[in-house]
Amino acid sequence: MADTPNQYAIQDPLTQYPRPPFPRQPQEAPGSIADMDPRPDHGEESYRGFGRMEGRKALITGGDSGIGRAAAIAYAREGAAVAINYLSEEQAPDVRSLVDLIEGEGGTIVTLPGDLTDEAFCKKLIHDAHEALGGLDVLVNNAGKQTSQPSIADITTEQFDRTFKTNVYAMFWLSKEAIPLLPAGASIINTTSIQGFKPSDNLLDYASTKWAIIGFTKSLAKQLAEKGIRVNAVAPGPFWTPLQPSGGQPQDKVEQFGSEVPLGRPGQPAEIAPTYVFLATQEAGYITGEVFGVTGGNPTT
Ligand code: NAD
Ligand code: MG
Repeated sequence: MADTPNQYAIQDPLTQYPRPPFPRQPQEAPGSIADMDPRPDHGEESYRGFGRMEGRKALITGGDSGIGRAAAIAYAREGAAVAINYLSEEQAPDVRSLVDLIEGEGGTIVTLPGDLTDEAFCKKLIHDAHEALGGLDVLVNNAGKQTSQPSIADITTEQFDRTFKTNVYAMFWLSKEAIPLLPAGASIINTTSIQGFKPSDNLLDYASTKWAIIGFTKSLAKQLAEKGIRVNAVAPGPFWTPLQPSGGQPQDKVEQFGSEVPLGRPGQPAEIAPTYVFLATQEAGYITGEVFGVTGGNPTT
């Protein structure tokens, strides 16, 4: 977004970013930001860093596009070294533009593509990130699969399995492998959804995974407190990312995306990145086992 305003100037959130209706724009999963209209804001022009993550080392899954991309930009501008994972078919153009941006600003970004539905790959990813970054103290479990189906009768076992593997099993495998490597002060940040609280009829399998992520987050936070490792989750409402037009929602819902929340528009990824920054830093040192809603006003409870 060329005309993205300064994040630190007071603005009316109703008009800060585009409002529906949006054009229909079907694309194949996993989708690309290059094919989105309007183009999403991941903070490329708007996010200003303040050195809040100097020396930190973060792995972000699904870091190529959407919410993960915005977190990667914010982390890098806050001084962290960042590793991102994504599906290997997504190399171009989303990954390339992100790498060019962060490296162009003197930041560190390592690309570690691969499929998180594979347990062996998840284990390798943690060790590869740890080695490439020279340590690991932030794990952002953000990759996700969402496929709208009108009825339970339309959800195949294959879809159900892949949604759970991507959204739940990968978080389990990655967290389990990372914990022995994480120092006190480290932070695990999971990505749930408003769907984990208020499930839509067309997202049965997806909503179930997002509910599971909340339980996992709260239980693991209790387990890891004695190690000084914090575990929290972010619950986005509707965000303008490729997940939605690439099968996450039917196209008539894409047209009206975000109209259902009090602020009347989808969030832009740049508007949720600060929550991922906050939860990673020592500013959030007394916060664990929490779920932070960033929903445009749709209450999580
Ligand atoms: P996105 O499509 O930009 O990002 C999701 C990423 O997940 C993809 O880019 C892909 O790299 C990765 N991914 C999917 N399957 C994978 C696999 N098997 N292995 C490795 N990587 C895989 O969409 P997004 O909206 O930014 O999604 C990020 C997270 O936010 C997801 O967990 C999603 O459920 C959650 N979320 C999104 C919204 C929304 O409205 N966009 C709302 C609530 C929650
Ligand atoms: Mg993507």
